[in-house]
Amino acid sequence: MDERRVLTTCIWCGTGCSFYLRVRDGRMIGIVPSLSHRISRGMLCAKGWKSYEFAGHHERLKKPLIREGNDFREASWDEALDLVSGRLLEIKRRYGPESIQVLGSAKCPNEDNYILQRWARACIGTDNIDHCARLCHASTVAGLARAFGSGAMTQSISEIENADLIFITGSNTAEQHPVIAAHMMRAINRGARLLVIDPRKTPMARIADIYLSQRPGTDIAWINAFINVIVNEGLHDKRFIEEHTEGFSEMWEKAKNYTPEVAERITGIPADRLASAARLYARSERPMIFYSMGITQHITGTENVMSLANLVMVAGKIGRPSTGLCPLRGQNNVQGSCDAGVLPGTLPGYQPNSDEEILRKFEALWGTRPPSWKGITSTQGPDAILEGKIKALYSMGENIFSSHPDMNHMGEALRRLELLVVQDIFLTETARFAHVVFPATAWPEKEGTFTCTDRAVQLIRKAVDPPGEAMDDWRIIQELSNRMGYEMDFEGPEEIFSEMTKAMPIYAGMSYERLEEGGLQWPCPSPDHPGTPYLHKDGVFRRPGGKGKFHPTEHVEPPELPDEEYPFYLSTGRVSFHWHTRSMTGRIGLLEREYPVSLVDINPEDGKRLGIRSGERVRITSRRGSVECVARLTDEVPPGLIFATFHYAEASANLLTMNALDPTALIPALKVSAVRVEKVS
Ligand code: SF4
Repeated sequence: MDERRVLTTCIWCGTGCSFYLRVRDGRMIGIVPSLSHRISRGMLCAKGWKSYEFAGHHERLKKPLIREGNDFREASWDEALDLVSGRLLEIKRRYGPESIQVLGSAKCPNEDNYILQRWARACIGTDNIDHCARLCHASTVAGLARAFGSGAMTQSISEIENADLIFITGSNTAEQHPVIAAHMMRAINRGARLLVIDPRKTPMARIADIYLSQRPGTDIAWINAFINVIVNEGLHDKRFIEEHTEGFSEMWEKAKNYTPEVAERITGIPADRLASAARLYARSERPMIFYSMGITQHITGTENVMSLANLVMVAGKIGRPSTGLCPLRGQNNVQGSCDAGVLPGTLPGYQPNSDEEILRKFEALWGTRPPSWKGITSTQGPDAILEGKIKALYSMGENIFSSHPDMNHMGEALRRLELLVVQDIFLTETARFAHVVFPATAWPEKEGTFTCTDRAVQLIRKAVDPPGEAMDDWRIIQELSNRMGYEMDFEGPEEIFSEMTKAMPIYAGMSYERLEEGGLQWPCPSPDHPGTPYLHKDGVFRRPGGKGKFHPTEHVEPPELPDEEYPFYLSTGRVSFHWHTRSMTGRIGLLEREYPVSLVDINPEDGKRLGIRSGERVRITSRRGSVECVARLTDEVPPGLIFATFHYAEASANLLTMNALDPTALIPALKVSAVRVEKVS
């Protein structure tokens, strides 16, 4: 039978690579990269090449499941949908809509997330709607919105090659966004300098012109010291500050105290090297700063992001091509899920539910008024459940038991729920706690759009049929909604997207027909608008009045520091071969073969002192729990710091991490915990 090739967008990271799925006899048999794609240009990483394999795995969910004692039994769709809609209505009647929490998924398309939040707000009447952006870039959304009026990457990935300084902090770009790292290498090959500031000596740090390793959790101190050097040496952009910003004096009142010497005492970075790096940034013509969760996952995550925004504005390095501030979003569609309004208090298109005019607009569109109160976040969920405030949790494609900090605490909360419904493609660790499990379709089985880290909305296309009775996520939600008395009659994702363009000014000029041409970057306000490659052109920010806002920031010590009992810093993250909780990458042969067990990175000096060699089993213990994994001695981590992943449920770093939250973005401090390390005899 003939082979078909279906053009689509990658499911893993926020880079947004494009490729063709090869389909024969109704099965996916391989991948051909798209040579003409703006971002991937024929490149893919290992995960991208193998992105389709999990979809055909024999463990895919094929029928709805209903709990019976400690097990599940298969059920018909009618029975399962009737049960869930009835139970949700009953819980809403008894405890109120605020007793129900709904979680969306950054792996699902925009259309699934949009209809989910509409169902939560218009049908259930709850604003308790959130998703995994809470764990990665909630502090970016909050911090950049305050500083610039928009919480997104200011530039395009395709602009990277023309930058003259690549400045990376808190991002292991080569392993987590490999195709973006390839664009950086292109710039470096053309003469760009490379500056990396990170506690871990990442692959990009090894080839950097300047590499600085800071003590974990001290970012505000070194960023303020950069500003200190730049202003004191007259390298700041006075005209830009005067014409395009406000709040400089208040910010400087704090930053003037952070001399390089003061910052050295806090961060451990030698003062002279810090000053050299600051000069390099300020003197570059087209510097691009890239950051990720090393900046955001702290109790000061929002302030860290605002500090970087301060730095960019002080130096006037924004509003031009190849010159700006670039949060690298993790999941394929975490940008789109935020855009679609799967955040408490934030209606689609970042429109606040505190604004009467906006509430009226959505009331007209949805036929009912969305809640005007601000719901709780996914990170506040476990405590709210244990306090009896949340009685039911509906999760579309999130594996919160494994991905959130302090797994024991999360497990206790999930067991306490009166109703837990999980909609997913595999029986994840979270689904095992559920009362009802709905089988959903995977990415190659559905139509829709993903929005990648540089704000490009791109199509995904159906290549194969789903297994068994698996149903599209949007259709499951619509079926539930109709049973609950709030009628929705979308015929498919294109019709949902069409409503999104009416609801969201940043998507207003888009249509599937226009996206066929390779995607559009928001804001795209009208059908003749070409999309926006870079934001804040000529220093006109997206805040009311058009000015960027400086915020004073002050160093705060992390909530838990090493001591005699727990002498190591623990930092957590991902490795290049796996994705989050491995529910998908753990079912792909090549990726499992390359990284089959949970490893913990330990500096060789620490290994020697503790009598630990590579390949030996070690036990890591924090105040919250203990895990056993295999040691890997490497100078990627400095002495006193270890690095572990949360990929393996049985040895997850999230048994060790704590749920200490940034007070603004409510993102957990996953990058700093105190632990002890012992050899397992
Ligand atoms: Fe997919 Fe990201 Fe790899 Fe590109 S870099 S192929 S988007 S995982």
